Amino acid sequence: MLTQVDALLHARWIVPVDDKQSILEHHSIAIHQGKILDILPTDQIHQCYSSKHDQNLENQLLMPGLINAHGHAAMSLFRGLADDLELMTWLQEHIWPAESKWVSPDFVRDGTRLAIAEMLRSGTTCFSDMYFYPDIAAETVTELNMRAQICCPILDFPTPWAKDADEGIHKALKVNAAQRHNPLVKIAFGPHAPYTVSDEPLRKLASLQEELQIPIQMHLHETAFEVTEAEKQGLRPIARLEQLGILGPHFQAVHVTQANTEDLLTLARYDVKVVHCPESNLKLASGFCPVDKMQKAGITVALGTDGAASNNDLDLFGEMQTAAQLAKAVAGDAAAVPAFEAIRMATLNGAIALGIDDITGSLVKGKAADIIAIDMSRLETLPVYNPISQLVYTRMADKVKHVWVNGKILVRDGILTQIDTEKLKQQARQWGEKIRAGDSHD
Ligand SMILES: [Zn+2]
Repeated sequence: MLTQVDALLHARWIVPVDDKQSILEHHSIAIHQGKILDILPTDQIHQCYSSKHDQNLENQLLMPGLINAHGHAAMSLFRGLADDLELMTWLQEHIWPAESKWVSPDFVRDGTRLAIAEMLRSGTTCFSDMYFYPDIAAETVTELNMRAQICCPILDFPTPWAKDADEGIHKALKVNAAQRHNPLVKIAFGPHAPYTVSDEPLRKLASLQEELQIPIQMHLHETAFEVTEAEKQGLRPIARLEQLGILGPHFQAVHVTQANTEDLLTLARYDVKVVHCPESNLKLASGFCPVDKMQKAGITVALGTDGAASNNDLDLFGEMQTAAQLAKAVAGDAAAVPAFEAIRMATLNGAIALGIDDITGSLVKGKAADIIAIDMSRLETLPVYNPISQLVYTRMADKVKHVWVNGKILVRDGILTQIDTEKLKQQARQWGEKIRAGDSHD
């Protein structure tokens, strides 16, 4: 008796991202009702399952969709607006003024769509976002069937979304209540950084986190300047957060380019997750995250692109390559962050960091069918001795052929199935013209 399933995918290779670092050859995945029902050798799968959607993915590799654990999606509309500047000049003289002038619900809707289109086409199926109007971002994610953690921004000073931290927290709780039953979206608190959020709101977030189990994501120890300025007030930011009682397994620390032994021990003791954004750190000359030391200390490190205004793309495959190469240079050890580890950082570790590893992050029975298919037959990927090496050390984003989220196909043969690409390009051009014209009138 054959079980009817929604789809059968037959691949040359499958990299499920498991503890054995398996590479399955000539295997197939049975998908039903959005989930992975089974993974079997291709010559056995038809003995158990049949489907009207039987797909032969010759010379293709299936792996979990990538998880971009930190970014500011709508900032894609500021891509290339201000480059070659260090963090504080970039923020204070360019990004914050542009945000106060241009950010609106329409800006966030159009910018988030642009980011989602770019991420899907380059193999990302889930992302974490931290930006204004998180309610609009959550709506956009749901409409396009993407998966996301949406962090509601909390800052002491007025932003386009809230006049102070209290209002930010109040609005975040409302967004969380509205999205509680959304299977694709999880809400988090996004206190921006230690230098933009004071003790009182952080204490409040610590107690709300405990009560409501809402994760917290924060930029932390991004630059040496941030840490030395805080030390002048008495405490390094990580030590201050520990005192405030906000650290824990739910806490996602973004960047951490500055970490002494004590900082690392604290992060490990509280099981804090680190989100490493190597290309943004390199571009803003923020410093180097000691990934190898963190991993040796048992800290879970995930990967993020950060916003397109400081990267300037949302290509997580590129980020994987940079992370693997940079870690070797920083550690002075070519064995630091081997290829499989880089893949795990961009998939399973991202899911663990966001607290959704029961749903996604690897290809195992029962998890959501968040899957990408990579074309391994292109000139730059041949010959294939070890597909894992190819995934990390060659250019991959443009080899993503198909993308499924929750079993639904969102990219087919490199083409977005739910987004009108021409219309999206037109919108991005219009925003660019408006922002450029507005800037030159100042
Ligand atoms: Zn950021």
